[in-house]
Amino acid sequence: MMDTKIKRLQEIINESHQIVFFGGAGVSTESGIPDFRSAEGIYHQNYKYPPEEVVSHSFFMRNPECFYEFYKDKMLNLNARPNRAHAKLAALEWAGKVSAVITQNIDGLHQAAGSKKVYELHGSVHRNYCMKCHKLYDAKYVKDSKGVPYCTCGGMIKPDVVLYEEALNDKARQQATNMISQADTLIIGGTSLSVYPAAGFIDYFIGKNLVLINKSMTTKTIRTILHIEDPIAEVFSQIKV
Ligand code: ZN
Repeated sequence: MMDTKIKRLQEIINESHQIVFFGGAGVSTESGIPDFRSAEGIYHQNYKYPPEEVVSHSFFMRNPECFYEFYKDKMLNLNARPNRAHAKLAALEWAGKVSAVITQNIDGLHQAAGSKKVYELHGSVHRNYCMKCHKLYDAKYVKDSKGVPYCTCGGMIKPDVVLYEEALNDKARQQATNMISQADTLIIGGTSLSVYPAAGFIDYFIGKNLVLINKSMTTKTIRTILHIEDPIAEVFSQIKV
């Protein structure tokens, strides 16, 4: 038997033509990728330095050995596979329902599931570049290199991931706000909406249906027409395309 809130979500999806999905860490939870800020997340794991310090631009420049030790161990989850939420969002895109997926995740799992229009606000572990000659490297090269990965030219390689103290990818940010402003439905999922400036994106939405799917209450108070407090993969697995 279908939950009345899931039923309502199904109705909203059925009547929508330009759905934008805005997702956070909770979308990848079922894939085994830890949420940075949840109680079980990596922020609470014991490490030599607090993770929020390690994952900052100044720390990366100052102590790349330590950054990469942490990054490869905790953030580079190359064995992770897309889950039911990624799969359903890709299917909804093929069906002409979802016009864009905007994500704060860096794991590339939406693309792995088949989504084409993905805007990665915080970059991706799958793109890495030499800080000297800008040559590109894949995630496997970074993972397999001993300690700090270096380019053939001798330059240090940096993941194309937005670290603390760094600005969001400007192109992705502009495209994301543009897609949100054109959407008839905005579904926000698996995020506490606490990461500035991503949290401000919701203000660009002028469409009809604002849906929030999040296990825990959001810190930013937003006016939703539907709020489902269940894990996102569980919710999406019940939706029919
Ligand atoms: Zn180079």
